[in-house]
Amino acid sequence: MVEQTLQAFRGTLVDFVDDPQALGERACRCFDDGLLVVRDGRVAEIGPAAELLARLPPQTAITDYRGRLILPGFVDTHIHYAQTDMIGSYGEQLLAWLENYTFPTERAFEDPQHAREVAGFFIDELLRNGTTTAMVFATVHRQSVDAVFEAAAARDLCLVAGKVMMDRNCPESLRDTPASSYEDSSALIERWHGRGRLRYAVTPRFAPTSSEAQLQMAARLLDEHPGVFFQSHVAENPQEVRWVAELFPWSRSYLDVYDRFHLLRERAVFAHCIHLDAHDRGRLAASGAAASFCATSNLFLGSGLFDPQSAAEAGVRVGIGTDVGAGTSFSMLRTLDESYKVAQMGGHRLSPLRAFYLATLGGARSLYLDDTVGNFEPGKVADFVVLDPAATPLLERRLARTPALADRLFLFMTLGDDRAVAATHVAGRARHVRGALL
Ligand SMILES: [Zn+2]
Repeated sequence: MVEQTLQAFRGTLVDFVDDPQALGERACRCFDDGLLVVRDGRVAEIGPAAELLARLPPQTAITDYRGRLILPGFVDTHIHYAQTDMIGSYGEQLLAWLENYTFPTERAFEDPQHAREVAGFFIDELLRNGTTTAMVFATVHRQSVDAVFEAAAARDLCLVAGKVMMDRNCPESLRDTPASSYEDSSALIERWHGRGRLRYAVTPRFAPTSSEAQLQMAARLLDEHPGVFFQSHVAENPQEVRWVAELFPWSRSYLDVYDRFHLLRERAVFAHCIHLDAHDRGRLAASGAAASFCATSNLFLGSGLFDPQSAAEAGVRVGIGTDVGAGTSFSMLRTLDESYKVAQMGGHRLSPLRAFYLATLGGARSLYLDDTVGNFEPGKVADFVVLDPAATPLLERRLARTPALADRLFLFMTLGDDRAVAATHVAGRARHVRGALL
């Protein structure tokens, strides 16, 4: 955190105060020539540059981002750091994908040296893409969690992560037990949860790889440590859904398995949520748990189409997840592009305002971190991304003819990627500037 400093950033400021689904354009705040004033790494105020500049002490350091968009840093609600090196692996759907690619890749994280190397690259890649908060799966190995938290702490990044719990239906070398997963998770919570900007998430991979005894342990960990998060996968692939029905014959649905073990609660995030029914969506909404919409992953693995419209109508908290390595990009802009197409396939429009809300404040609300990140409310940590309208010739050409903010945002999500990220600031400090990592 930058200490005892006053900084100001001038550019087009855009953030969201609420969900455009309910409020429409009023949910979005924009200052064409705006100023973001940051004191000690936190937002002090935002407003029109002309007005605020007149009031600032003359020695204030002002960074000139005029002509560029300054948005709150992106919140990625579902990603696997250990799968960085298997992104773009060919040919499989979920269950064979796990068997053929994921398990062999994750086995290597037994080696702390390897874990540290991948974690460093992973965190820098988040920053290159404008992501400043992420909810992350590590592997079954305790040291894999240490590595990703250390890498995040070194860059002051807000990170939620946890050790995968997995005691059946996986290779012996990746298997823990209910007791060992409880002990390892407890130790990691003690070491990391609440340290700076780091938070712990209890992380059973998905119901098929956890025994009932282990799912009970997961709930016990949450009960014993209020404020700790939970993450898992649900209803991603039809074959997986059928398998869960066989493994848990008493269950009403896949989501019901987690519900029965009291795992639907606030700060719980379920990736995918594709093959759900209205009852499931009602339970997600009522429990305060969130769904992570992982569009590129769902298309890449042929899993199915998430229905953002039904989720919104049911009042489910929704965030965006890249789900690397089944997801095909670290870029939230690329992921929003695919999210829009998925909604189109379901006959719905995902408006650019709602898309960027989901990637910022919506994600922060999914994680119950909206008291500290997600928009430019005074007091929040000054995490932000600077988008460059001249990033590519085509983007520049299209934007030159596009004055309206919503249309401009739509072009950033349709044509943009990491090249559009001019800079990423964490707690006010530039942690990525295009072309160089600081
Ligand atoms: Zn995943």
